[in-house]
This record gives sequence, C-alpha cells and structure tokens, in this order.
Amino acid sequence: MAKKITVLPGDGIGPEVMDGAVKVLKAVFDHFGHQFEFVEALIGGIAIDLEGSPLPTATLQKCAESDAILLGAVGGPKWDHNKPELRPEKGLLGLRKEMGLFANLRPVKTYEPLISASPLKQEVIGNVDLLIVRELTGGLYFGRPSERRGQFNEEVVDTLQYSKAEIERIVEKAFQLARLRRKKLTSVDKANVLESSRMWREIVDQMASKYQDVDVQHMLVDSTAMQLITKPEQFDVIVTENLFGDILSDEASIITGSLGMLPSASLRADAFGMYEPVHGSAPDIAGQGKANPLGTILSAAMMLRYSFGLEIEAKLIETSVDDILKDGYCTGDLQIPNGNILSTSQMTEKVVEKIRENH
Ligand code: ATP
Ligand code: MG
Repeated sequence: MAKKITVLPGDGIGPEVMDGAVKVLKAVFDHFGHQFEFVEALIGGIAIDLEGSPLPTATLQKCAESDAILLGAVGGPKWDHNKPELRPEKGLLGLRKEMGLFANLRPVKTYEPLISASPLKQEVIGNVDLLIVRELTGGLYFGRPSERRGQFNEEVVDTLQYSKAEIERIVEKAFQLARLRRKKLTSVDKANVLESSRMWREIVDQMASKYQDVDVQHMLVDSTAMQLITKPEQFDVIVTENLFGDILSDEASIITGSLGMLPSASLRADAFGMYEPVHGSAPDIAGQGKANPLGTILSAAMMLRYSFGLEIEAKLIETSVDDILKDGYCTGDLQIPNGNILSTSQMTEKVVEKIRENH
C-alpha cells in the first residue's frame, strides 16, 4: 500500500512554499518509481476561517492515518487578536501533542555561497554541519506548579520537571540519530547546578554503553552557547532539554545566514514525524511569489530520511539545493553576492531541474 503524506499548507507563505516542496517530492518519487499518496488538510488561520477551529477533527484524523506530515506555516495578523483557543498557533501545538512528538530536530549547516551573509567569520563557520535535538514535551514549559504566589503576587514559580522515561526516550533518539551521521553526540546540561541535569547526565552515561560506536561528551549549556559561535565545526549531534534547546537552536541558526533555508522535524519513537520550515508565515511577503521554498523543500528531504529511510533520495534533494546556490541562484532573502534572484516557483523549478540533472 502506498505510504501517505498529510500536507498542511497553512497560512501566509505556507501554501506557496508547500507547493514547491510537493512538486520536488513528486519529481523525486517519479524518478525512483516510488508510490506515495498526498492528502491535503486545513490547519491554522485558514482552518479557523473555514471550519471554526485551528485544528479540525478531520485534519487530526487524516494526520493520524498518515505516515508523515509536511507543514507550511500558520498564523498572521488577521488572527492575532483572536481569543486564545482560536489562535492559529494552537493548531500546531495541538497537533504536536496529539501526535506524541517529543523530539525536535533542527539541522544547521554552512552553505558556502551564503557565508558572507552570516555575521560570523568564514574561518569559524566554513564547514559546519550539526543537528540540534531538543526535548519538546517537558521541562520548564510544562512543569507544575507554574504560578504567581502570595497575597500580593510577590513571588513566581516555574518548575523544571522531567521523568526518567522522558529523558531516556529523547537521549535514545539522539544516539540513533548520531549513528546515522558522524557518530558524535554532545549532551548539553547544567549539571553543576540542576538536579534534572544530573539525572540527564546519568541516563546519557548509562545509554552510552549500548551505543559504544558513538563518541559522547557532556557540555554545560553556558559553555555550549559560546562554543556554538567560536568552534561550531566540532559539533555533530547536540541533545538537550526543552528550554536549552529552544535557545541554542535559535543561536545556531545564525550560522546558516538565513531563516528561509532552515528545515526542522518533530519525531517520536517510531518512524512517524512532522516536518516544517523553521520560519513563520511571513505575512509581509505572502502571496507575492517572493518566499524562499528551500526551508520547506529541505524539510521534505528530512522526511524522506527519517520517516521513510530514503537516504539517497534525501541526499539528492540536499545536493541539488547546494548546487543551485553554488550556481548563483537565490531568492530575495538570500544574500549571494551578484546572485540571480528567482521567484518561489522559479526556484522550485530549478530544484526539479537539478534533481533530473543530478540523478
Ligand atoms: P512567526 O511568529 O510566525 O514565527 P515571525 O515574526 O517570526 O513569525 P517569520 O514569518 O518567520 O516571522 O518571518 C520573519 C522575517 O523573515 C520576515 O520579514 C519574513 O518576510 C522573512 N522570511 C521568513 N521566511 C521567509 C522565506 N521563506 N522566504 C523569504 N523571507 C522569509
Ligand atoms: Mg518566529
């Protein structure tokens, strides 16, 4: 039976960049003779407008029946003043929760033609290729109690809470991901201060005996923050808890030099996953054909790799994107010196052409 991909274009530039990713996937599937079925569904603002909910039951149903989800972006000024349960972002958060996605993957790499657009020096970021694996379901964002206290609210509390099982599943995922890459894992914590970090460290050390081919190191989060911009080439896979991962992945994204280029994945223990670009719905350029589709196209490549085990196909997309930038083609958000600026659909067409050429 054909594997199913649920396609959620969403709002703003979501539909434009999604169109690019689906065309690229279809080109790849055609070449290799793979049978895949695409099922489209509503999420976010457009779902609120058409169905009265940011995550309609029909969407959830389709997602649950599919093997992977590809998402564009949600949100926009039209819905900014909606009441909390009718905000587009609720759709995305709800979907992550309903699908049990606990591992957020954010790869960051150097694209040589984009180096001059980064505020970091070429000597430092010349050859970066790292993957941040962030725990998504626990930590300070979800710990109870979280409240204001006292008669005059003069005290606040947030709780950093993790169970052993929650740490084990994310650490195990990270070891597995390291095996698919250069087999180097950096576990990031604050074990000199936090009890949760000490348990995190123990679990990493225990799990290391099962993955002896993976080289493991521990690093404190403050030190990691510095080393990400001074010695980023040393990192392969970084695994860390929710808040640390949130901050470090945004910091690391600067290395690539553009928001439009960054893919992401949210996974659980099995092969199911949700894939989306890091950028938002970019209402300022929506509908103008200016959006860079590469973040979504690279997310589709991650989907082939992690949900379908199609490594050659994933690499083909990634290499084609690399080659296009090297040929001097870009979109308006990318600063390639003397670059040839393409529209969203022209860029998509270029990727499809390159795939034909490279295969
Ligand atoms: P959100 O709250 O949805 O994350 P945001 O305010 O962080 O939104 P983004 O939508 O991520 O904003 O966009 C930030 C800026 O980057 C905007 O100026 C937008 O036009 C630009 N941008 C984001 N994504 C792209 C893209 N794929 N191509 C071109 N420009 C982009
Ligand atoms: Mg944002």
